[in-house]
Amino acid sequence: MSDLRTIIEQLVRQTLQEMAPSSSDIKPMKAVSQTINSSHNYGKRLPLVAANWKMNQLSGSAKAFMREIQLKDRKNIQTLICAPHILLPVLAGEKKETDILLGAQNFYPEPSGAFTGEHSLDMLIDVGVQSVIIGHSERRNLFGETDELLAKKLAYAVDKKFLPIFCIGENLKERNDGSTFRVLQNQILTGFAGLKNPLPDPAMIVVAYEPIWAIGTGLTATAEQAQDAIAFVREKLADRFSWAYANSIRILYGGSANDKNAATLAAKPDIDGFLVGNASLNATTFASMIEQVAAVKRKVFAS
Ligand code: PEP
Repeated sequence: MSDLRTIIEQLVRQTLQEMAPSSSDIKPMKAVSQTINSSHNYGKRLPLVAANWKMNQLSGSAKAFMREIQLKDRKNIQTLICAPHILLPVLAGEKKETDILLGAQNFYPEPSGAFTGEHSLDMLIDVGVQSVIIGHSERRNLFGETDELLAKKLAYAVDKKFLPIFCIGENLKERNDGSTFRVLQNQILTGFAGLKNPLPDPAMIVVAYEPIWAIGTGLTATAEQAQDAIAFVREKLADRFSWAYANSIRILYGGSANDKNAATLAAKPDIDGFLVGNASLNATTFASMIEQVAAVKRKVFAS
């Protein structure tokens, strides 16, 4: 287990070192929000672009995707592919590049036992998986996953040294009646309620802000809407933990993100990357998003 954590930590550290400003014309980091204290340093967060394939792809297309993505430029960024369970060993078999992480879309927070149809984290580790999506709105709404179960899953995944992608987001009615922030606050506070001291390395926790009205609809949140929501979530994480801790947690945007809007969204200082559904099914589109985010984030850090 400690091996898995060591590998992921080494990858994060190695990429952060590569990202460190090397040229003398790069100016010092600047705090971009008045509420963030002087220790804030956005460059400490390694951008992440994560694919959520949902119930898509077959073994042939999964292998072809992995082959293509490995040929693309993925410097200064973390790449994660969250695939259906049955395709994870297929992807692992095709994966040569250690900087690409594999993620599952679900697991059951028990070590083993009579849980028909479920997968444990040890089973996922066994086939080379390092990350897991928790609390996706489709799991909350279609499969009835409760805040309590999600809190248990998050604490369990953290304990097993997985990189959790914890999803939160409001629906259209909540957005329209002005309760977005209340909903986000509740999801964050209940979701993180199970985390105990000593807290995990914040670089090993990822939150994805995914407004439900934007998922799979082609309606992307504006960069301002996404930035406001994500800055609010970071503030709530800071209230719960500390600014130093919250500033090191990566927060992604998800909801019809694609290769046309990625650069605009990623230019916002609190948006650390994307969780991508539809646009992640095509390796060329997904690779373009990875490249754009890495390029934009270098500029954001340098400004
Ligand atoms: C998702 O399901 O996590 C998602 C963001 O989907 P899409 O990009 O298709 O909106």
